[in-house]
Amino acid sequence: MKRYIVIGLMVLIATSASAQHPYKSTLKLMGSRFEITVVTHSQEQANQYINLAIDEISRIEKLISSWDPNSQTSKINAHAGISPVSVDAELFNLIKRAIDLSKITDGAFDISYAAMDNIWAFDGSMTQMPTPEQIKQSVSKVDYRHVILNEKDHTVFLKNEGMKIGFGAIGKGYAADKAKALLIQKGVPSGIINASGDMTTWGTQPNGQPWQVAITNPMDKAKAYGLLPITQGAVVTSGNYEKYVEFNNIRYAHIIDPRTGYPATGIISVTVFAPKAELADALATSVFVMGIDAGLNRINQLPNIACIIVDDKGQLFTSHHIKITH
Ligand code: ADP
Ligand code: MG
Repeated sequence: MKRYIVIGLMVLIATSASAQHPYKSTLKLMGSRFEITVVTHSQEQANQYINLAIDEISRIEKLISSWDPNSQTSKINAHAGISPVSVDAELFNLIKRAIDLSKITDGAFDISYAAMDNIWAFDGSMTQMPTPEQIKQSVSKVDYRHVILNEKDHTVFLKNEGMKIGFGAIGKGYAADKAKALLIQKGVPSGIINASGDMTTWGTQPNGQPWQVAITNPMDKAKAYGLLPITQGAVVTSGNYEKYVEFNNIRYAHIIDPRTGYPATGIISVTVFAPKAELADALATSVFVMGIDAGLNRINQLPNIACIIVDDKGQLFTSHHIKITH
């Protein structure tokens, strides 16, 4: 029997005698399951805070979604190869950071991967493998160096017709960071935003202990394999056990290698610890593409970042600075 060890994002919450308690709400936002936990005095107060977080995440979704035809992102995509589009500073800066991430990952992370959307689908609708010709044609549209930013008037121009950008690998992390920042600003002492595997925490548990993340074995999810304190703030897992297609016994994950146009293979999950969920989110996706050696190498060069990789044989690889306690 194969034993995969996959990183679960179950946060362990200790009960405490203090007057403050963690209140948790689960809901669907950005097409994903979000869990928002705030530590406060009453359910009523918790609901008020959670509603603020929901509004903030919904606002971001409206701005960045490439599915919503009315979003600024859709406008950028609709004008690919035609003209620059003026956008809000917030979206402009997100795109700018995404391009910086492309540079530090040697192009493994690339928001213009989205031109491949019409070739690969990971919702069960694909019946056959795309042809090499189709892949070649689509991947020729993918290149972050052709996303042209004009700082002066905050315009974004996709240079070639057929280009498209999407924030699938960074948007949830960004939204989690923003919701956290807002709740801190409103005076919430501690909490967790978990955007289906993109998790960010602040403060401590009511008993003063750090939040901890459990590493679970998917063959028996109830069993924690080990525990890690979340000291850096954010922990994000990218996995190919949910969205994938299989052809000839090869499992293709929903993460695309922008250099080849083929989905990344070989890795089952990547968990990244970082100060911000946005960075952790983008890096988790990048390591999937870069592979075990190049991925670990890059992570080890970055300050305050750590990662755990599980390959498709169930083997665990960790960057320096990872210590799992039992
Ligand atoms: P998860 O949905 O498991 O949290 P990720 O954060 O890794 O996964 O994001 C995967 C999504 O990112 C894909 O579904 C797609 O929308 C987008 N994507 C795929 N490949 C890339 C890539 N090379 N660079 C940036 N975004 C990508
Ligand atoms: Mg990601």
